[in-house]
Amino acid sequence: MLKYDTTIGLEVHVELATKSKIFCGCSTEFTSEPNTHCCPICLGMPGAIYVTNRKVVEYAVKAALALNCEVEKVSGFDRKLYFYPDIPKAYQVSQYEVTLAKNGYVLIEVGGKTKRIGIGTLHMEEDAGKLIHEEGKPYSLIDLNRAGVPLIEIVSKPDMCSAEEASLYLNKLKTVLQYAGVSDCKMEEGSMRCDINISMRPSGSKTLGTKVEVKNLGSFRAVRRAIEFEQKRQSRILEEGGTVEQETRRWDESKGCTIHMRGKIENRYAPEPNLSPVIVDQKWIDQIMKTMPELPDARKERYINNFGLPDYDAEVITSSKKLSDFYEDCVKNYNDPKVISNWVMVEMLGLLNETGVSIDEIKFKPKQLAVLFELMGNGTISGKIAKEVFREMFNTGEDPEAIVRKKGLVQITDESQLQRIIRDVIDQNPKSVQDYKNGKQKALGFLVGQVMKLTRGKANPQLPNKILRSFLDET
Ligand SMILES: [Zn+2]
Repeated sequence: MLKYDTTIGLEVHVELATKSKIFCGCSTEFTSEPNTHCCPICLGMPGAIYVTNRKVVEYAVKAALALNCEVEKVSGFDRKLYFYPDIPKAYQVSQYEVTLAKNGYVLIEVGGKTKRIGIGTLHMEEDAGKLIHEEGKPYSLIDLNRAGVPLIEIVSKPDMCSAEEASLYLNKLKTVLQYAGVSDCKMEEGSMRCDINISMRPSGSKTLGTKVEVKNLGSFRAVRRAIEFEQKRQSRILEEGGTVEQETRRWDESKGCTIHMRGKIENRYAPEPNLSPVIVDQKWIDQIMKTMPELPDARKERYINNFGLPDYDAEVITSSKKLSDFYEDCVKNYNDPKVISNWVMVEMLGLLNETGVSIDEIKFKPKQLAVLFELMGNGTISGKIAKEVFREMFNTGEDPEAIVRKKGLVQITDESQLQRIIRDVIDQNPKSVQDYKNGKQKALGFLVGQVMKLTRGKANPQLPNKILRSFLDET
């Protein structure tokens, strides 16, 4: 049986977070009231004169620089001729002949290695409106609030070869753009959208297979599933000696498969005569560069070099801006970056995964977590109890001190109090005591466990062991 290699490229659309649209002053803010953020320009009225929003160019350049692209000094706008009612002008203003930027890349960590995924081009364009198809009605409705919202389209090179790599690339794009502050990149809400180009060829072959495009992917999970589905579908066709059709397919989330949407179409473009060229000189680039915040790769390096975090931990924490900002805030309040990163990696991510809560919804503040570390550090509570307190903080947002007080969780460090409990444990477990005396070290562990049980985990973990030994060895 032949084995096949997969080649994947992604076309990603990202909404820029400017306050107004790309060619008019209408608000980009989301509203559920249809057709309220519209004017003659974004409604496509004949004769409406439009100009380019300078802020959109600034954000797009910032995105391009953050993605290591070369920015063109002069680019321009073109009309993508397009006959579909979600665009009232019958063309979409986009960039085709010369795009704003090209030749960028991002780095992903895959299988313990760093891989570079190339970005072919990055260009600006306007978003379309939204068609609403009401069940059983012989017509469709149109909401043009989204028409004219600024987008950048980022076209990767066909450098990915698995669903995992595509997913890592997508997440890296999202992280970089969020760090740069140019988009919130929420795929579920449509501010980040992704189309897949995927082809397969016999292993070792130099010629790329026929490319299939997949659209309508509403989540990272959908992207992964669609790629895995296409890998199976295309390799089955090839194994049976068939040929893969060049086509556009649509991901069907409920059926978990891709469905034929349309055959190959050639898009046609014409120059846009209403808009002046986009000119980005070095001075402007320098100004934008000055406003560039620390990006994820740099932040990861800093965590490794200054905080002494392992590569893997630094990667996980910086792969989400929200998580990383949260972590930084904790470090500002409690100066032990390694302890905090361990806690964040194990306890916090564990609870987030377990409960499905997102980092935005966390109820406690980094400062409160710092207090928890202090309580642990000064011996007020044991590490075991700290986990219990943390869970409570996570559920309620309450202060750790209040939880400790309310639940009576202060660590027992008073030896005389412990001695009494330990005497009881020894009296009640003569067999284990005998086992220990016969040289079974395991029996000691059992007795310590009994003490912890009676103290509900509040005993300072070093003490029961020490006291038990001294009692057992003296009798
Ligand atoms: Zn408008």
